Amino acid sequence: MTQQTKQTANFPSIQALFGGTFDPIHYGHLLPVEALAKQVGLQQVVLLPNHVPPHRPQPEATVRQRLAMIKLAIKNNPLFSIDTRELKRTTPSYTVETLLSFRQEIGWQKPLAFIIGQDSLLSINTWFDWQKILDLCHLLVCARPGYTTYFPTSPMQQWLIHHQVPDPEILSHKPCGAIYLADTPLLNISATQIRERKRDRKSCKDILPPAVLRYIDKHHLYQNCV
Ligand code: ATP
Repeated sequence: MTQQTKQTANFPSIQALFGGTFDPIHYGHLLPVEALAKQVGLQQVVLLPNHVPPHRPQPEATVRQRLAMIKLAIKNNPLFSIDTRELKRTTPSYTVETLLSFRQEIGWQKPLAFIIGQDSLLSINTWFDWQKILDLCHLLVCARPGYTTYFPTSPMQQWLIHHQVPDPEILSHKPCGAIYLADTPLLNISATQIRERKRDRKSCKDILPPAVLRYIDKHHLYQNCV
């Protein structure tokens, strides 16, 4: 047994979650997370489609349609699975509450990680109870074009520096508390761009899985969004 496999075997695997509206799911979600999984050694990534509260702009697609598109996107890809707990709640999808419900299931010793894009990291201080997030999980951050790797304000930048780890191996040695900025492919894709392209009757080929695109076309989704 090599030193590397010995070390991995001594530490529990990381449970990784990836939350989003997924309206629709696209390659900007899937490909960076696949690269991240390779870098960090994740065996499984649980996709967590969120419930969008009534006072926020609602997804164009229904819950059922968003879920159907996720299922099509990850069919034949054993890295991904789905957890629908946020969709079953009628209250806003607060990440701290979701993480707490995972902690109640898996306990406090197992490493738990929440995956986000760089844009989400930069606005994390607007999330409900955001200061508690690193008490519950690690943050694994995928690069996203157009977003810096540093915060505009000093207190948030200090927070990042304090928690950032350079080596992903550290993540499996402790249950929570670290931020890892992964070197993932930059994909200039967003769900907003896809909805706009569909509305403008432009091609969305190569920016989302073909099965998802067929579903969008079959159900005439995103044709009237503004
Ligand atoms: P919208 O355009 O509707 O706001 P979105 O494309 O940003 O949607 P979400 O479902 O809101 O997708 O995002 C879920 C998570 O995926 C977020 O943490 C976001 O930062 C990340 N993400 C989305 N697109 C990318 C991308 N192209 N590269 C890296 N991360 C991404």
